[in-house]
Amino acid sequence: MPSKRQIFVGGVPIGGGAPVAVQTMTKTETANLAATMEQIRKVADAGADIVRVAVPRDEDVEALKTIVVESPIPVIADIHFNHTLALKAIDAGAHCIRLNPGNIGGRDKVAEVAKRATAAGVPMRIGVNSGSLPRHLHALERESPVEALVAAAVEFVELMEGLDFENFKVSIKSTNVPNTIAANRLLSEKIPYPLHLGITEAGTKWSGSLKSSVGLGTLLADGIGDTIRISLSTFHAEEEVKVAWEILKALQLRERGPVLIACPTCGRLQFDMDSVVAEIEQRLEGYVEPIEVAVLGCAVNGIGEASHADFGIAGAKNEGLIYAHGKPLRKVPQASLVDTLFEEIDKSLDRGAVEFDEDESREGAAWLAKIEGENAGELTPEKIAKMEKEAVEKGESDKVLLDEDVSPTAGRRFTRA
Ligand code: SF4
Repeated sequence: MPSKRQIFVGGVPIGGGAPVAVQTMTKTETANLAATMEQIRKVADAGADIVRVAVPRDEDVEALKTIVVESPIPVIADIHFNHTLALKAIDAGAHCIRLNPGNIGGRDKVAEVAKRATAAGVPMRIGVNSGSLPRHLHALERESPVEALVAAAVEFVELMEGLDFENFKVSIKSTNVPNTIAANRLLSEKIPYPLHLGITEAGTKWSGSLKSSVGLGTLLADGIGDTIRISLSTFHAEEEVKVAWEILKALQLRERGPVLIACPTCGRLQFDMDSVVAEIEQRLEGYVEPIEVAVLGCAVNGIGEASHADFGIAGAKNEGLIYAHGKPLRKVPQASLVDTLFEEIDKSLDRGAVEFDEDESREGAAWLAKIEGENAGELTPEKIAKMEKEAVEKGESDKVLLDEDVSPTAGRRFTRA
């Protein structure tokens, strides 16, 4: 269930059923205006809806005044320990303030920030990380880190409500994936405010992306979470945005740009598919249309499981097939497979539809049928899946029983009924 409450960070709605917003944080010194603006433009191009900048000093507040004007997306000021910086960031025009009410110097200071934020119509993100729980929850934390995280968040929510400030979203983050999942599930049942999801200090691009996908993906699949940030140890903040989008696209929560499908390859592969996939992935970055492109390492299985793709290629040793919506477009030499694929994509986007040359399509279909025929005896995983599907569709069985020609049992330690 999405959060009941909705807030706006700049013009971006968060919660209340709005699309899950993608955010990231700049890694530059905020006071270095040129570098920070360059990174903000890059993350906005990559699809960030919102960006956060660290504001630990007065010179960062100075830069913030220009950043909020020049940034193409709303800007959140990230404040720790110093409530006067929060007040200054609101005055500088920040679209949202992120602070931990537990480390800002007491209730009166939080109240002062809340009052200024109310006057300016600025929302806040409040929250806790597993490493910074209030001291009185340390005993509970040793017993149940999840309950301690949730208790801290609920205390902060009550604090803000007691100050008549309800224009906020909440985050509880941990480096521990199961704890993050459990804590957010519990919190989402207790409070109506939007939730910001993230795995703290998730790690490098590789491990951090995986941890974030598992943690955030699990919650998002349950309908929990209104905005996400992927934390990766890289100076390229746009990489965090790309990972966030892949998670949202995989769960079909949002659409942005192409989706690439590629087979895992196996011993039937006869060309350098790794390089082909890498090139296709790179070239697809230049497209905003949500087209699905499939890359199959061979044509042994026909175009079977990837036939739903808008475009696809099935490679072979010297030549390959380009197809669209399950129908062959044409056969081309291996060396020009990628260029021709993109020519076809561009043509179809220009015209609004794929145009088939019937002769070329027939020639491609014949090539495909020949390869399938030559490999008819091969029981690839794709072929078994197809046979199972066909049997179920015919109502013959919910289970495929292979015959002896296709799958001999002679000499093996079982018989087939
Ligand atoms: S059999 Fe499947 S996994 Fe192997 S190369 Fe062909 S399409 Fe890829």
